[in-house]
Amino acid sequence: MNIDLTGKRVLVTGASSGIGAAIAKQLGSIGARVAVNYRSGESEADESVSQIEQAGGEAFKVQADVSDVDAVERMFAKVDDRFGGIDILINNAGIDGKRVLSWDIDPADWKKVIDVNLMGSFYCARQALKRMVSANEGVILNVSSVHEEIAWSGQSAYTASKAGISMMMKSMAQEASPHGVRVLSVAPGAIRTPINEDVWSDPESMEGLKKLIPMDRIGEPEEIAKMVAVLVSDVGSYVTGETVFIDGGMTDYPSFAKGG
Ligand code: BGC
Repeated sequence: MNIDLTGKRVLVTGASSGIGAAIAKQLGSIGARVAVNYRSGESEADESVSQIEQAGGEAFKVQADVSDVDAVERMFAKVDDRFGGIDILINNAGIDGKRVLSWDIDPADWKKVIDVNLMGSFYCARQALKRMVSANEGVILNVSSVHEEIAWSGQSAYTASKAGISMMMKSMAQEASPHGVRVLSVAPGAIRTPINEDVWSDPESMEGLKKLIPMDRIGEPEEIAKMVAVLVSDVGSYVTGETVFIDGGMTDYPSFAKGG
């Protein structure tokens, strides 16, 4: 069995940091040609590109705010110019927004999370599907979250965006399967990235977080990236319309370990 992406043309959104950067590097290291999307972290995107190149891969950076439908269209045109098409889209760019109860949050802040996470994933998937369906092959993988399933007080926009990605993904998989295109998601649990640095960098918060994880540790971005490589490669050739949870057991009802 060989996990090989030689020559595959990949776009990873939000690839300047965290899970997206780890995925870009992982896919580059097994032969993919990688478009590294970023919104504002240009120097971090340069770093992702040079790490891929140093490992012998090919990469270039492409700026776009995924919540801007026209910017997404321009980004795909740039990927076309450089690669002549796209084989794999990793819809990773996302934000968690402010943690505020639903009756207190400013609707504009709530909408921002939906615009980036859900609309952004849709805009990119739409462009990718246009190309993949006519090529009769391709893979779209969304980076969702355990919070497509687990409710999270103070994060109703984030949970709604991830639950929305789940049904969008399943419906797109139904649409695209007859055209040789797979659409799926991974759902990371608590992973050591900038999005939750306030939690893992504080020992007391970290203790609280670990109580939610049967494996008793936070995950590393590379642990998501390795599974993504499996799923988008031919090893995952029969997986579509499904979310693969990578969460150290977070969705395994850890509170029942001693109760119930
Ligand atoms: C969030 C993290 C959180 C994790 C587990 C992720 O989707 O971005 O901040 O630690 O879910 O709750």
